[in-house]
Amino acid sequence: MKQTLAIVGAGLAGRMLAIRLADDGWDVTLFDQGERDGLESCSYTGAGMLAPQSELDRADPHIAELGDRSIALWPSVLTRLPRPVDLVMDGTVLVAHSTDEPDLERMARRILDRSPSPERIRRLSAAELGDLEPDLATRFQHGWFIEREGHIDNRQLLEALEAGITHRSITWHTTHPCPSIRPHHVDTDHPHYDWVIDCRGLGAQGDLPDLRGVRGELLHLHAPEVSLRHPIRLTHPRYPLYVVPRTDNLFVIGATEIESDDRGPITVRSALELLTAAYSLHSGFAEAHIVEARADCRPAFPDNLPRVTCEPGLVRINGLYRHGFLLAPLLLETVCQTLAKSEAVSLLETNTLLETTRT
Ligand SMILES: Cc1cc2nc3c(=O)[nH]c(=O)nc-3n(C[C@H](O)[C@H](O)[C@H](O)COP(=O)(O)OP(=O)(O)OC[C@H]3O[C@@H](n4cnc5c(N)ncnc54)[C@H](O)[C@@H]3O)c2cc1C
Repeated sequence: MKQTLAIVGAGLAGRMLAIRLADDGWDVTLFDQGERDGLESCSYTGAGMLAPQSELDRADPHIAELGDRSIALWPSVLTRLPRPVDLVMDGTVLVAHSTDEPDLERMARRILDRSPSPERIRRLSAAELGDLEPDLATRFQHGWFIEREGHIDNRQLLEALEAGITHRSITWHTTHPCPSIRPHHVDTDHPHYDWVIDCRGLGAQGDLPDLRGVRGELLHLHAPEVSLRHPIRLTHPRYPLYVVPRTDNLFVIGATEIESDDRGPITVRSALELLTAAYSLHSGFAEAHIVEARADCRPAFPDNLPRVTCEPGLVRINGLYRHGFLLAPLLLETVCQTLAKSEAVSLLETNTLLETTRT
């Protein structure tokens, strides 16, 4: 008989695990407080950037190492899905206005110093910048380029994962909140499972008291006058900005980072700041339509690092913070190995910081 497994939380982590573990022969049941559209999940809001080196400006250096390993796994994850998902790995461009150039140089040097692969990072002359992004050539004298970074379309991904789950006939209990879960049990209405996996993101705060929300807000713009091919990061002392290109002249611009659990709509201040920064990057954004404004909270532990914990009958995966899309494939592998051994395994051989724990 197949071993039974309940996954609570059908965001990015829960959906990816459901498909992988069903393919590995587990009898999987999925629970979520929301609908299949994923609107209740942070993953629906996230920009989907896969940027291990760019994040080094502020992230723990191990995120870059883990991120590189994880990005390499994305293509095999996508082959399991019945629908195509846009995954683009053409690199990231960093720029700053002339008054902020010293900040950009400092940031680039800091990234270079901390990077496990500095050979992938290079300074761009005006001509090189123009070759990569013609629209930026007249506005910026130089920039920086980081190879082998990219982005994945988060909405397409959630939809394709949903289709993959349906395709495998995995039982999915929607609008089913599970406020507190225990080893082998999601609630009193359902039977004993061999394993329960907690993928509730910020919804697990009741069971994980040191989990906090870090609010992020972003806008979706339709800008026919803007042509950008790469994710662009604009360094600015007050309004740092990233622009992620999607198909058909759609751009995701973001994102604020505010220490708050407030999941309410975007504030006027944040919208003004993001739009001002976007307009300063490219005047073509002036005529853009604001298609959507979204805000949600990234689930984060005090060290801003992900955790996979294991006790008999219960695995928890949480704290994906700014790096859910970046790290999900690797964390998935970690959970599969954890289940196979019935004990937590280490994410990095040499690193105790990111070691998964057995509670
Ligand atoms: C503005 C913004 C931009 C971001 N940009 C990026 C980026 O560019 N790159 C990147 O890698 N990451 C990014 N992130 C982070 C990324 O989105 C998250 O790390 C990731 O989505 C977390 O996934 P998750 O599956 O752990 O949680 P979630 O996606 O939040 O999923 C949790 C699920 O659990 C369900 N749930 C919660 N509580 C309960 C309960 N009690 N019972 C049942 N179900 C429950 C929820 O409904 C939800 O479906 C961004 C985040 C934000 C907010």
